[in-house]
Amino acid sequence: MTDSPAAPRPVRLMLNKAHYPVTSLGPGTRAGIWTQGCTIGCAGCVSQDTWTADPGTLVDVAAIQAWLSGLPDPLDGITVSGGEPFQQPEALAALLDRVHAWRRERPAPVDVLVYSGYSLSRLRRQHSALLSRCDAVLTGPYVERLNSPGLRWRGSSNQRLTALTDLGRERYEGTGPVGPPPMQVAMADGRIWFIGVPGRGDMDRLSARLRSAGITLEEVSWRS
Ligand code: SF4
Repeated sequence: MTDSPAAPRPVRLMLNKAHYPVTSLGPGTRAGIWTQGCTIGCAGCVSQDTWTADPGTLVDVAAIQAWLSGLPDPLDGITVSGGEPFQQPEALAALLDRVHAWRRERPAPVDVLVYSGYSLSRLRRQHSALLSRCDAVLTGPYVERLNSPGLRWRGSSNQRLTALTDLGRERYEGTGPVGPPPMQVAMADGRIWFIGVPGRGDMDRLSARLRSAGITLEEVSWRS
């Protein structure tokens, strides 16, 4: 009698949130996945709610793939942001492997864009296998003084958008700075999310406008 093969070990990712549709972080209509946990600590980061590496946010990557599989069309791409996705390399690899297997069955190409606060050269040195699973990456820390109008999908001008595959080159090359960055608003679980890359001071100006209208925002993610 032979032992039956062991079930694959579940791989879990610390997840801040997942949302569809996302139209402000990459081309087309996308699924957004935000990882939880980032130790980079950029001054002025608007996503400080993603900093704590909280084990209570662990989710099986199979559940994230099941969520993706249940999304409606259109679905042009997947954006993984954070948090710092590359600080969970094993879980990110498992998630992207599942995404690759799933997208092969899709009728139209689905690209994978991953954000990172690390430089591309560091990612090439330390995470080349992960980069091979991405169509494009947007790399570099957020630098508040380099936040200026017209930075498409980026928070500051030092950040670099790099296409890594033919699909990435088709979707991302030539998509430089154009117009004001779009922002989306989403609500779930008693939270309001602003999705996209705001200009410097935009979120504090929004708070002030709401306050003057009698609405006070509590526990905002852009101030610690
Ligand atoms: S901007 Fe990104 S890399 Fe920088 S602290 Fe915030 S989540 Fe981390």
